[in-house]
Amino acid sequence: MRLLRRCTDLEAWLRSCGAAPLHFVPTMGALHPGHQSLIARAGRLQVGVRPQVLVSVFVNPLQFGANEDFGRYPRQLERDAELAEAAGADALFAPSVEELYPAGEGELTRIQPPESLQAGLCGRHRPGHFNGVATVVARLLGLIRPDQLLLGEKDWQQLVILQRMAADLGLPVQVVGCPTLREPDGLALSSRNSYLSPAQRLQASALPQALQAVAASPLPPGSVLAPALAQVQQQLEQAGLVLDYVEAVCPRSLQPRSTLTGLTLLAAAAHCGPSRLIDHVFLMSRAPIVAIDGPAGAGKSTVTRAFAERLGLIYLDTGAMYRAVTWLVQQSGVEASDAAAVAPLLEDLDLQLSTAAAGSQRVSVNGHDVTEAIRSPEVTAQVSVVAAHGCVREALTRQQQAMGERGGLVAEGRDIGTAVFPDAELKVFLTATVAERARRRALDLEQRGFAVPALAELEAQIAERDHLDSTRDVAPLTQAADAVELITDGLSIDAVIEQLGQLFRQRVPHDAWPEPAA
Ligand code: AMP
Repeated sequence: MRLLRRCTDLEAWLRSCGAAPLHFVPTMGALHPGHQSLIARAGRLQVGVRPQVLVSVFVNPLQFGANEDFGRYPRQLERDAELAEAAGADALFAPSVEELYPAGEGELTRIQPPESLQAGLCGRHRPGHFNGVATVVARLLGLIRPDQLLLGEKDWQQLVILQRMAADLGLPVQVVGCPTLREPDGLALSSRNSYLSPAQRLQASALPQALQAVAASPLPPGSVLAPALAQVQQQLEQAGLVLDYVEAVCPRSLQPRSTLTGLTLLAAAAHCGPSRLIDHVFLMSRAPIVAIDGPAGAGKSTVTRAFAERLGLIYLDTGAMYRAVTWLVQQSGVEASDAAAVAPLLEDLDLQLSTAAAGSQRVSVNGHDVTEAIRSPEVTAQVSVVAAHGCVREALTRQQQAMGERGGLVAEGRDIGTAVFPDAELKVFLTATVAERARRRALDLEQRGFAVPALAELEAQIAERDHLDSTRDVAPLTQAADAVELITDGLSIDAVIEQLGQLFRQRVPHDAWPEPAA
Protein backbone atom coordinates (compact mmCIF):
# COMPACT_ATOMS: atom_id res chain seq x y z
CA MET A 1 0.00 0.00 0.00
CA ARG A 2 1.27 3.49 -0.85
CA LEU A 3 1.32 6.24 1.77
CA LEU A 4 0.75 9.62 0.08
CA ARG A 5 1.47 12.79 2.09
CA ARG A 6 1.54 15.42 -0.69
CA CYS A 7 -0.99 16.31 -3.39
CA THR A 8 1.76 15.71 -5.97
CA ASP A 9 2.21 12.13 -4.63
CA LEU A 10 -1.52 11.65 -4.95
CA GLU A 11 -1.53 12.87 -8.57
CA ALA A 12 1.31 10.53 -9.49
CA TRP A 13 -0.45 7.58 -7.86
CA LEU A 14 -3.73 8.41 -9.63
CA ARG A 15 -1.91 8.43 -12.97
CA SER A 16 -0.48 5.00 -12.19
CA CYS A 17 -3.96 3.54 -11.63
CA GLY A 18 -4.86 3.52 -15.33
CA ALA A 19 -8.43 2.69 -16.24
CA ALA A 20 -9.43 0.75 -13.09
CA PRO A 21 -12.45 2.20 -11.27
CA LEU A 22 -11.42 4.26 -8.25
CA HIS A 23 -13.27 3.93 -4.93
CA PHE A 24 -12.64 6.45 -2.17
CA VAL A 25 -13.16 6.18 1.61
CA PRO A 26 -12.59 9.48 3.46
CA THR A 27 -11.91 9.26 7.22
CA MET A 28 -10.51 11.26 10.10
CA GLY A 29 -8.28 8.36 11.08
CA ALA A 30 -8.11 6.39 14.35
CA LEU A 31 -9.36 3.59 12.16
CA HIS A 32 -11.46 0.78 13.61
CA PRO A 33 -13.28 -2.22 12.10
CA GLY A 34 -16.17 0.09 11.02
CA HIS A 35 -13.79 2.02 8.76
CA GLN A 36 -12.20 -1.26 7.66
CA SER A 37 -15.59 -2.61 6.59
CA LEU A 38 -15.98 0.42 4.27
CA ILE A 39 -12.50 -0.16 2.84
CA ALA A 40 -13.20 -3.87 2.27
CA ARG A 41 -16.53 -3.03 0.61
CA ALA A 42 -14.78 -0.46 -1.61
CA GLY A 43 -12.48 -3.21 -2.88
CA ARG A 44 -15.23 -5.67 -3.79
CA LEU A 45 -15.31 -6.87 -7.36
CA GLN A 46 -17.83 -5.00 -9.47
CA VAL A 47 -19.12 -7.06 -12.37
CA GLY A 48 -15.76 -8.83 -12.43
CA VAL A 49 -13.56 -5.73 -12.13
CA ARG A 50 -11.28 -5.07 -9.14
CA PRO A 51 -11.37 -1.36 -8.24
CA GLN A 52 -8.47 0.64 -6.79
CA VAL A 53 -9.17 1.72 -3.22
CA LEU A 54 -7.96 5.01 -1.80
CA VAL A 55 -8.46 5.91 1.87
CA SER A 56 -7.85 9.39 3.26
CA VAL A 57 -6.97 10.30 6.83
CA PHE A 58 -7.45 13.98 7.58
CA VAL A 59 -8.64 15.59 10.82
CA ASN A 60 -10.46 18.49 9.22
CA PRO A 61 -10.35 21.64 11.36
CA LEU A 62 -13.27 23.18 9.43
CA GLN A 63 -15.80 20.74 10.88
CA PHE A 64 -14.97 21.22 14.57
CA GLY A 65 -16.65 23.88 16.72
CA ALA A 66 -14.61 26.13 19.04
CA ASN A 67 -15.31 23.97 22.12
CA GLU A 68 -15.04 20.62 20.39
CA ASP A 69 -12.30 17.99 20.38
CA PHE A 70 -10.11 19.02 17.41
CA GLY A 71 -7.00 19.26 19.60
CA ARG A 72 -7.41 15.88 21.29
CA TYR A 73 -8.90 13.88 18.38
CA PRO A 74 -6.85 10.63 18.25
CA ARG A 75 -4.04 10.75 15.66
CA GLN A 76 -2.20 7.46 14.91
CA LEU A 77 -1.10 7.46 11.29
CA GLU A 78 1.28 4.47 11.44
CA ARG A 79 -1.36 2.22 12.95
CA ASP A 80 -3.97 3.58 10.50
CA ALA A 81 -1.70 2.66 7.59
CA GLU A 82 -1.48 -0.93 8.88
CA LEU A 83 -5.25 -1.16 9.39
CA ALA A 84 -6.06 0.34 5.99
CA GLU A 85 -3.65 -2.03 4.26
CA ALA A 86 -5.05 -5.03 6.14
CA ALA A 87 -8.55 -4.08 4.94
CA GLY A 88 -7.39 -3.95 1.32
CA ALA A 89 -6.56 -0.28 0.63
CA ASP A 90 -4.20 0.37 -2.30
CA ALA A 91 -3.18 3.82 -1.09
CA LEU A 92 -3.61 6.08 1.95
CA PHE A 93 -3.70 9.85 1.42
CA ALA A 94 -2.81 11.68 4.65
CA PRO A 95 -2.13 15.34 3.90
CA SER A 96 -1.33 18.00 6.52
CA VAL A 97 -3.73 20.93 6.99
CA GLU A 98 -1.26 23.18 5.10
CA GLU A 99 -1.11 20.71 2.22
CA LEU A 100 -4.88 20.55 1.82
CA TYR A 101 -5.60 24.25 2.50
CA PRO A 102 -2.37 25.89 1.22
CA ALA A 103 -3.75 29.44 1.16
CA GLY A 104 -5.19 29.09 4.68
CA GLU A 105 -8.74 28.59 5.85
CA GLY A 106 -9.62 32.26 5.27
CA GLU A 107 -8.92 31.99 1.55
CA LEU A 108 -10.92 28.83 1.00
CA THR A 109 -14.04 28.51 -1.17
CA ARG A 110 -16.70 27.03 1.12
CA ILE A 111 -19.61 24.74 0.39
CA GLN A 112 -22.89 25.43 2.15
CA PRO A 113 -25.42 22.57 2.00
CA PRO A 114 -29.11 23.56 2.15
CA GLU A 115 -30.41 24.88 5.44
CA SER A 116 -33.32 22.39 5.36
CA LEU A 117 -30.84 19.50 5.73
CA GLN A 118 -28.87 21.18 8.53
CA ALA A 119 -31.65 22.68 10.63
CA GLY A 120 -32.31 19.55 12.67
CA LEU A 121 -30.41 16.65 14.25
CA CYS A 122 -26.65 17.27 14.61
CA GLY A 123 -26.78 20.36 12.38
CA ARG A 124 -28.69 22.28 15.04
CA HIS A 125 -26.24 21.35 17.79
CA ARG A 126 -23.03 21.74 15.77
CA PRO A 127 -23.45 24.97 13.75
CA GLY A 128 -21.09 25.08 10.76
CA HIS A 129 -20.14 21.39 11.11
CA PHE A 130 -21.72 20.20 7.85
CA ASN A 131 -20.39 23.22 5.91
CA GLY A 132 -16.94 22.07 7.03
CA VAL A 133 -17.63 18.45 6.09
CA ALA A 134 -19.01 19.38 2.65
CA THR A 135 -16.09 21.74 1.98
CA VAL A 136 -13.39 19.17 2.73
CA VAL A 137 -15.17 16.36 0.85
CA ALA A 138 -15.68 18.61 -2.20
CA ARG A 139 -11.96 19.47 -2.12
CA LEU A 140 -10.98 15.80 -1.80
CA LEU A 141 -13.36 14.77 -4.60
CA GLY A 142 -11.84 17.47 -6.83
CA LEU A 143 -8.33 16.17 -6.18
CA ILE A 144 -9.18 12.46 -6.40
CA ARG A 145 -12.08 12.30 -8.90
CA PRO A 146 -13.22 8.84 -7.73
CA ASP A 147 -15.98 6.78 -9.32
CA GLN A 148 -17.43 5.88 -5.93
CA LEU A 149 -17.45 7.65 -2.58
CA LEU A 150 -18.14 5.23 0.29
CA LEU A 151 -19.65 6.66 3.47
CA GLY A 152 -21.05 5.11 6.62
CA GLU A 153 -24.76 5.14 7.30
CA LYS A 154 -23.71 5.65 10.91
CA ASP A 155 -23.39 9.37 10.16
CA TRP A 156 -26.76 9.45 8.41
CA GLN A 157 -27.17 13.23 8.19
CA GLN A 158 -23.66 13.51 6.71
CA LEU A 159 -24.50 10.84 4.14
CA VAL A 160 -27.70 12.60 3.06
CA ILE A 161 -25.96 15.99 2.85
CA LEU A 162 -23.06 14.65 0.79
CA GLN A 163 -25.42 12.78 -1.53
CA ARG A 164 -27.27 16.03 -2.05
CA MET A 165 -24.04 17.95 -2.61
CA ALA A 166 -22.94 15.48 -5.30
CA ALA A 167 -26.34 15.73 -7.00
CA ASP A 168 -26.63 19.54 -6.77
CA LEU A 169 -23.08 20.17 -8.03
CA GLY A 170 -23.40 17.50 -10.72
CA LEU A 171 -20.30 15.72 -9.40
CA PRO A 172 -19.55 12.58 -11.43
CA VAL A 173 -19.35 10.32 -8.38
CA GLN A 174 -21.65 7.67 -7.01
CA VAL A 175 -22.21 8.11 -3.28
CA VAL A 176 -22.60 4.71 -1.59
CA GLY A 177 -23.93 4.24 1.96
CA CYS A 178 -22.44 1.37 3.99
CA PRO A 179 -23.77 -0.57 7.03
CA THR A 180 -22.92 0.41 10.61
CA LEU A 181 -20.60 -1.86 12.57
CA ARG A 182 -21.38 -2.31 16.24
CA GLU A 183 -19.93 -3.75 19.44
CA PRO A 184 -21.67 -6.86 20.80
CA ASP A 185 -23.77 -4.68 23.16
CA GLY A 186 -24.99 -2.56 20.25
CA LEU A 187 -22.73 0.51 20.59
CA ALA A 188 -21.72 1.73 17.12
CA LEU A 189 -17.94 1.68 16.64
CA SER A 190 -16.52 5.19 16.73
CA SER A 191 -13.07 6.72 17.06
CA ARG A 192 -14.50 8.78 19.91
CA ASN A 193 -15.36 5.66 21.95
CA SER A 194 -11.67 5.67 22.96
CA TYR A 195 -12.42 8.66 25.23
CA LEU A 196 -14.72 6.53 27.41
CA SER A 197 -13.71 5.06 30.78
CA PRO A 198 -14.88 1.46 31.41
CA ALA A 199 -17.83 2.77 33.45
CA GLN A 200 -18.79 5.29 30.76
CA ARG A 201 -18.44 2.59 28.12
CA LEU A 202 -21.12 0.58 29.94
CA GLN A 203 -23.36 3.65 30.23
CA ALA A 204 -22.94 4.39 26.50
CA SER A 205 -24.73 1.21 25.47
CA ALA A 206 -28.00 2.75 26.72
CA LEU A 207 -28.12 4.81 23.50
CA PRO A 208 -28.39 1.95 20.96
CA GLN A 209 -30.48 -0.06 23.40
CA ALA A 210 -33.07 2.70 23.88
CA LEU A 211 -33.39 3.17 20.12
CA GLN A 212 -33.52 -0.57 19.41
CA ALA A 213 -36.26 -1.00 22.02
CA VAL A 214 -38.50 1.30 19.95
CA ALA A 215 -37.61 -0.34 16.63
CA ALA A 216 -38.20 -3.81 18.04
CA SER A 217 -41.96 -3.39 18.39
CA PRO A 218 -43.28 -2.38 14.96
CA LEU A 219 -45.86 0.42 15.00
CA PRO A 220 -48.86 0.48 12.68
CA PRO A 221 -48.78 3.09 9.89
CA GLY A 222 -49.95 6.52 11.06
CA SER A 223 -48.90 5.95 14.70
CA VAL A 224 -48.10 9.12 16.65
CA LEU A 225 -44.34 9.13 17.36
CA ALA A 226 -44.23 11.42 20.41
CA PRO A 227 -44.48 8.51 22.93
CA ALA A 228 -41.54 6.73 21.27
CA LEU A 229 -39.43 9.91 21.46
CA ALA A 230 -40.36 10.37 25.12
CA GLN A 231 -39.46 6.74 25.86
CA VAL A 232 -35.97 7.13 24.36
CA GLN A 233 -35.41 10.40 26.21
CA GLN A 234 -36.42 8.85 29.51
CA GLN A 235 -34.18 5.80 29.07
CA LEU A 236 -31.16 7.93 28.19
CA GLU A 237 -31.69 10.19 31.16
CA GLN A 238 -32.10 7.19 33.45
CA ALA A 239 -28.75 5.88 32.20
CA GLY A 240 -27.15 9.22 33.11
CA LEU A 241 -26.54 10.39 29.53
CA VAL A 242 -27.00 14.07 28.70
CA LEU A 243 -29.34 14.32 25.75
CA ASP A 244 -28.63 16.64 22.79
CA TYR A 245 -31.69 15.53 20.82
CA VAL A 246 -33.99 12.70 19.92
CA GLU A 247 -35.89 13.31 16.69
CA ALA A 248 -38.02 11.45 14.16
CA VAL A 249 -37.52 12.66 10.59
CA CYS A 250 -37.99 11.67 6.96
CA PRO A 251 -34.72 9.89 6.08
CA ARG A 252 -34.34 11.84 2.81
CA SER A 253 -35.59 15.37 3.45
CA LEU A 254 -34.65 15.18 7.17
CA GLN A 255 -37.86 17.09 7.91
CA PRO A 256 -39.55 16.26 11.24
CA ARG A 257 -42.26 13.60 11.27
CA SER A 258 -44.92 13.39 13.94
CA THR A 259 -46.51 10.17 12.67
CA LEU A 260 -45.16 7.00 11.11
CA THR A 261 -45.47 7.43 7.34
CA GLY A 262 -43.17 5.13 5.40
CA LEU A 263 -39.57 4.61 6.41
CA THR A 264 -38.77 6.99 9.31
CA LEU A 265 -35.42 7.83 10.89
CA LEU A 266 -35.35 7.91 14.69
CA ALA A 267 -32.04 9.53 15.63
CA ALA A 268 -30.49 10.64 18.90
CA ALA A 269 -27.30 12.26 20.19
CA ALA A 270 -26.16 12.31 23.80
CA HIS A 271 -23.07 13.18 25.81
CA CYS A 272 -21.47 10.42 27.84
CA GLY A 273 -18.62 11.91 29.84
CA PRO A 274 -16.11 13.33 27.33
CA SER A 275 -17.76 11.70 24.27
CA ARG A 276 -20.65 12.84 22.16
CA LEU A 277 -22.43 9.74 20.84
CA ILE A 278 -24.85 9.58 17.91
CA ASP A 279 -27.01 6.72 16.73
CA HIS A 280 -30.25 5.97 14.91
CA VAL A 281 -32.71 3.27 13.93
CA PHE A 282 -35.24 3.13 11.12
CA LEU A 283 -38.90 2.68 11.96
CA MET A 284 -41.09 0.85 9.45
CA SER A 285 -44.64 -0.43 9.59
CA ARG A 286 -43.69 -3.30 7.27
CA ALA A 287 -40.57 -4.71 5.60
CA PRO A 288 -39.62 -3.17 2.22
CA ILE A 289 -41.33 -4.02 -1.06
CA VAL A 290 -39.70 -3.80 -4.48
CA ALA A 291 -42.04 -3.78 -7.50
CA ILE A 292 -40.59 -4.70 -10.87
CA ASP A 293 -42.79 -3.99 -13.89
CA GLY A 294 -42.11 -4.03 -17.55
CA PRO A 295 -42.98 -5.65 -20.85
CA ALA A 296 -42.83 -9.38 -21.44
CA GLY A 297 -39.46 -10.91 -22.20
CA ALA A 298 -37.31 -8.18 -20.63
CA GLY A 299 -35.64 -10.72 -18.35
CA LYS A 300 -37.64 -9.76 -15.28
CA SER A 301 -37.93 -13.26 -13.79
CA THR A 302 -34.25 -14.11 -13.98
CA VAL A 303 -32.96 -10.90 -12.44
CA THR A 304 -35.77 -10.55 -9.92
CA ARG A 305 -35.21 -14.03 -8.54
CA ALA A 306 -31.46 -13.48 -8.14
CA PHE A 307 -31.94 -9.98 -6.75
CA ALA A 308 -34.47 -11.20 -4.16
CA GLU A 309 -32.07 -13.90 -3.03
CA ARG A 310 -29.18 -11.46 -2.70
CA LEU A 311 -31.24 -9.16 -0.46
CA GLY A 312 -32.99 -11.85 1.56
CA LEU A 313 -36.39 -10.83 0.16
CA ILE A 314 -39.15 -13.22 -0.90
CA TYR A 315 -39.64 -13.50 -4.64
CA LEU A 316 -43.24 -13.02 -5.72
CA ASP A 317 -43.60 -13.99 -9.37
CA THR A 318 -47.02 -12.61 -10.27
CA GLY A 319 -46.55 -13.50 -13.93
CA ALA A 320 -46.45 -17.15 -12.84
CA MET A 321 -49.80 -16.64 -11.11
CA TYR A 322 -51.41 -15.38 -14.36
CA ARG A 323 -49.80 -18.23 -16.25
CA ALA A 324 -51.15 -20.70 -13.68
CA VAL A 325 -54.71 -19.40 -14.17
CA THR A 326 -54.22 -19.60 -17.95
CA TRP A 327 -53.09 -23.22 -17.58
CA LEU A 328 -56.20 -23.95 -15.51
CA VAL A 329 -58.44 -22.27 -18.11
CA GLN A 330 -56.90 -24.40 -20.86
CA GLN A 331 -57.13 -27.60 -18.81
CA SER A 332 -60.79 -26.92 -18.07
CA GLY A 333 -61.59 -26.62 -21.76
CA VAL A 334 -62.91 -23.08 -21.24
CA GLU A 335 -62.55 -20.50 -24.02
CA ALA A 336 -59.79 -18.12 -22.79
CA SER A 337 -61.53 -14.99 -24.06
CA ASP A 338 -64.85 -15.81 -22.33
CA ALA A 339 -64.77 -13.91 -19.02
CA ALA A 340 -68.10 -15.33 -17.86
CA ALA A 341 -66.75 -18.87 -18.29
CA VAL A 342 -63.40 -18.06 -16.62
CA ALA A 343 -64.91 -16.39 -13.51
CA PRO A 344 -66.24 -19.60 -11.84
CA LEU A 345 -62.76 -21.16 -12.01
CA LEU A 346 -61.51 -18.42 -9.68
CA GLU A 347 -64.03 -19.13 -6.95
CA ASP A 348 -62.23 -22.02 -5.35
CA LEU A 349 -58.85 -21.45 -6.90
CA ASP A 350 -56.01 -22.74 -4.72
CA LEU A 351 -52.86 -21.13 -6.14
CA GLN A 352 -49.63 -21.63 -4.17
CA LEU A 353 -46.14 -20.23 -4.71
CA SER A 354 -43.38 -21.89 -2.74
CA THR A 355 -39.61 -21.76 -2.79
CA ALA A 356 -37.78 -25.04 -3.36
CA ALA A 357 -34.43 -25.88 -1.76
CA ALA A 358 -32.21 -24.33 -4.46
CA GLY A 359 -34.16 -21.06 -4.39
CA SER A 360 -36.27 -21.94 -7.41
CA GLN A 361 -39.96 -21.23 -7.19
CA ARG A 362 -42.63 -23.94 -7.49
CA VAL A 363 -46.16 -23.12 -8.61
CA SER A 364 -49.16 -25.27 -7.90
CA VAL A 365 -52.81 -24.95 -8.88
CA ASN A 366 -55.47 -26.92 -7.06
CA GLY A 367 -52.82 -29.38 -5.92
CA HIS A 368 -51.08 -29.86 -9.32
CA ASP A 369 -47.45 -28.81 -9.66
CA VAL A 370 -47.55 -26.67 -12.81
CA THR A 371 -44.06 -25.11 -12.55
CA GLU A 372 -42.93 -26.43 -15.93
CA ALA A 373 -46.31 -26.56 -17.66
CA ILE A 374 -46.96 -22.82 -17.29
CA ARG A 375 -43.85 -22.03 -19.38
CA SER A 376 -45.18 -23.81 -22.49
CA PRO A 377 -45.71 -21.86 -25.73
CA GLU A 378 -49.48 -22.60 -25.48
CA VAL A 379 -49.75 -20.83 -22.12
CA THR A 380 -47.48 -18.00 -23.34
CA ALA A 381 -49.77 -17.49 -26.33
CA GLN A 382 -52.91 -16.98 -24.22
CA VAL A 383 -51.77 -15.45 -20.94
CA SER A 384 -52.44 -11.86 -22.10
CA VAL A 385 -56.01 -12.76 -23.04
CA VAL A 386 -56.70 -14.36 -19.64
CA ALA A 387 -54.92 -11.59 -17.71
CA ALA A 388 -57.09 -8.98 -19.42
CA HIS A 389 -60.25 -10.18 -17.63
CA GLY A 390 -61.22 -7.90 -14.73
CA CYS A 391 -62.27 -10.87 -12.60
CA VAL A 392 -58.85 -12.52 -12.98
CA ARG A 393 -56.97 -9.34 -12.09
CA GLU A 394 -59.16 -8.65 -9.08
CA ALA A 395 -58.75 -12.15 -7.69
CA LEU A 396 -54.98 -12.22 -8.17
CA THR A 397 -54.39 -8.61 -7.02
CA ARG A 398 -56.22 -9.42 -3.77
CA GLN A 399 -54.10 -12.51 -3.25
CA GLN A 400 -50.85 -10.61 -4.02
CA GLN A 401 -51.73 -7.77 -1.65
CA ALA A 402 -52.41 -10.29 1.12
CA MET A 403 -49.00 -11.84 0.44
CA GLY A 404 -47.43 -8.35 0.68
CA GLU A 405 -49.02 -7.25 3.93
CA ARG A 406 -45.88 -7.87 5.96
CA GLY A 407 -43.61 -6.78 3.09
CA GLY A 408 -40.12 -8.20 2.64
CA LEU A 409 -40.65 -9.14 -0.98
CA VAL A 410 -39.73 -8.40 -4.54
CA ALA A 411 -42.81 -8.66 -6.70
CA GLU A 412 -42.46 -8.98 -10.40
CA GLY A 413 -45.13 -8.68 -13.03
CA ARG A 414 -46.91 -6.20 -15.18
CA ASP A 415 -48.87 -3.45 -13.32
CA ILE A 416 -47.36 -4.46 -9.96
CA GLY A 417 -46.09 -0.94 -9.19
CA THR A 418 -49.16 0.84 -10.49
CA ALA A 419 -51.99 -1.37 -9.23
CA VAL A 420 -50.82 -3.98 -6.71
CA PHE A 421 -48.17 -2.24 -4.57
CA PRO A 422 -48.46 1.49 -5.28
CA ASP A 423 -46.55 2.24 -2.05
CA ALA A 424 -43.54 0.00 -2.80
CA GLU A 425 -40.23 1.52 -1.65
CA LEU A 426 -38.65 0.90 -5.06
CA LYS A 427 -40.41 0.60 -8.41
CA VAL A 428 -38.45 -0.38 -11.47
CA PHE A 429 -39.69 -0.52 -15.04
CA LEU A 430 -37.38 -3.13 -16.51
CA THR A 431 -37.38 -3.09 -20.27
CA ALA A 432 -35.39 -3.91 -23.41
CA THR A 433 -35.90 -3.21 -27.09
CA VAL A 434 -38.13 -5.60 -29.10
CA ALA A 435 -35.09 -6.86 -31.04
CA GLU A 436 -33.18 -7.66 -27.83
CA ARG A 437 -36.17 -9.43 -26.30
CA ALA A 438 -36.72 -11.52 -29.45
CA ARG A 439 -33.06 -12.56 -29.37
CA ARG A 440 -33.33 -13.61 -25.70
CA ARG A 441 -36.61 -15.46 -26.31
CA ALA A 442 -35.06 -17.46 -29.17
CA LEU A 443 -32.15 -18.45 -26.95
CA ASP A 444 -34.46 -19.47 -24.14
CA LEU A 445 -36.70 -21.60 -26.41
CA GLU A 446 -33.65 -23.28 -27.88
CA GLN A 447 -32.20 -24.07 -24.45
CA ARG A 448 -35.49 -25.60 -23.33
CA GLY A 449 -35.78 -27.76 -26.45
CA PHE A 450 -38.73 -25.98 -28.11
CA ALA A 451 -38.85 -25.16 -31.85
CA VAL A 452 -37.41 -21.69 -32.49
CA PRO A 453 -39.38 -19.49 -34.92
CA ALA A 454 -37.58 -16.96 -37.14
CA LEU A 455 -36.42 -13.82 -35.29
CA ALA A 456 -38.72 -11.61 -37.38
CA GLU A 457 -41.69 -13.72 -36.31
CA LEU A 458 -40.67 -13.52 -32.65
CA GLU A 459 -40.28 -9.75 -32.95
CA ALA A 460 -43.77 -9.48 -34.43
CA GLN A 461 -45.20 -11.63 -31.59
CA ILE A 462 -43.48 -9.53 -28.93
CA ALA A 463 -44.59 -6.24 -30.52
CA GLU A 464 -48.14 -7.60 -30.73
CA ARG A 465 -48.04 -8.66 -27.07
CA ASP A 466 -46.72 -5.23 -26.02
CA HIS A 467 -49.58 -3.65 -27.92
CA LEU A 468 -52.16 -5.94 -26.32
CA ASP A 469 -50.73 -5.42 -22.84
CA SER A 470 -50.51 -1.64 -23.09
CA THR A 471 -53.91 -1.03 -24.70
CA ARG A 472 -56.15 -3.41 -22.78
CA ASP A 473 -58.91 -1.86 -20.65
CA VAL A 474 -58.02 -3.61 -17.41
CA ALA A 475 -54.68 -2.64 -15.83
CA PRO A 476 -52.82 -1.80 -19.02
CA LEU A 477 -49.02 -1.99 -18.98
CA THR A 478 -47.86 1.50 -18.03
CA GLN A 479 -44.80 2.77 -16.26
CA ALA A 480 -45.65 4.11 -12.77
CA ALA A 481 -44.86 7.84 -12.52
CA ASP A 482 -42.35 7.14 -9.74
CA ALA A 483 -40.74 4.07 -11.35
CA VAL A 484 -37.13 4.09 -12.50
CA GLU A 485 -36.70 2.88 -16.09
CA LEU A 486 -33.89 0.35 -16.51
CA ILE A 487 -33.11 -0.58 -20.12
CA THR A 488 -31.24 -3.87 -20.12
CA ASP A 489 -29.99 -4.03 -23.74
CA GLY A 490 -26.33 -4.97 -23.71
CA LEU A 491 -26.25 -5.51 -19.92
CA SER A 492 -25.32 -8.85 -18.40
CA ILE A 493 -27.64 -10.32 -15.76
CA ASP A 494 -25.03 -9.49 -13.09
CA ALA A 495 -24.86 -5.88 -14.26
CA VAL A 496 -28.66 -5.52 -14.06
CA ILE A 497 -28.70 -7.04 -10.55
CA GLU A 498 -25.91 -4.68 -9.53
CA GLN A 499 -27.93 -1.68 -10.75
CA LEU A 500 -31.06 -2.91 -8.98
CA GLY A 501 -29.00 -3.24 -5.78
CA GLN A 502 -27.80 0.35 -6.09
CA LEU A 503 -31.33 1.64 -6.69
CA PHE A 504 -32.57 -0.33 -3.67
CA ARG A 505 -29.86 1.08 -1.41
CA GLN A 506 -30.69 4.64 -2.46
CA ARG A 507 -34.11 4.04 -0.90
CA VAL A 508 -33.65 1.41 1.79
CA PRO A 509 -30.54 1.77 4.00
CA HIS A 510 -28.54 -1.24 5.19
CA ASP A 511 -29.45 -0.26 8.74
CA ALA A 512 -33.14 -0.75 7.83
CA TRP A 513 -32.80 -3.96 5.79
CA PRO A 514 -29.40 -5.67 6.15
CA GLU A 515 -28.14 -8.02 3.49
CA PRO A 516 -28.18 -11.66 4.60
CA ALA A 517 -24.75 -12.99 5.60
CA ALA A 518 -23.04 -14.54 2.55
P1 AMP B 1 -14.85 9.32 10.57
O1 AMP B 1 -13.43 8.89 10.61
O2 AMP B 1 -15.53 9.24 11.88
O3 AMP B 1 -15.04 10.60 9.85
O4 AMP B 1 -15.60 8.21 9.67
C1 AMP B 1 -15.17 7.92 8.37
C2 AMP B 1 -16.23 7.10 7.66
O5 AMP B 1 -16.43 5.89 8.35
C3 AMP B 1 -17.58 7.82 7.64
O6 AMP B 1 -18.18 7.61 6.37
C4 AMP B 1 -18.33 7.14 8.75
O7 AMP B 1 -19.72 7.18 8.57
C5 AMP B 1 -17.80 5.73 8.67
N1 AMP B 1 -17.96 5.04 9.95
C6 AMP B 1 -17.63 5.52 11.18
N2 AMP B 1 -17.97 4.63 12.12
C7 AMP B 1 -18.52 3.56 11.50
C8 AMP B 1 -19.09 2.33 11.93
N3 AMP B 1 -19.18 1.98 13.21
N4 AMP B 1 -19.56 1.46 10.99
C9 AMP B 1 -19.49 1.78 9.69
N5 AMP B 1 -18.98 2.94 9.23
C10 AMP B 1 -18.51 3.83 10.11
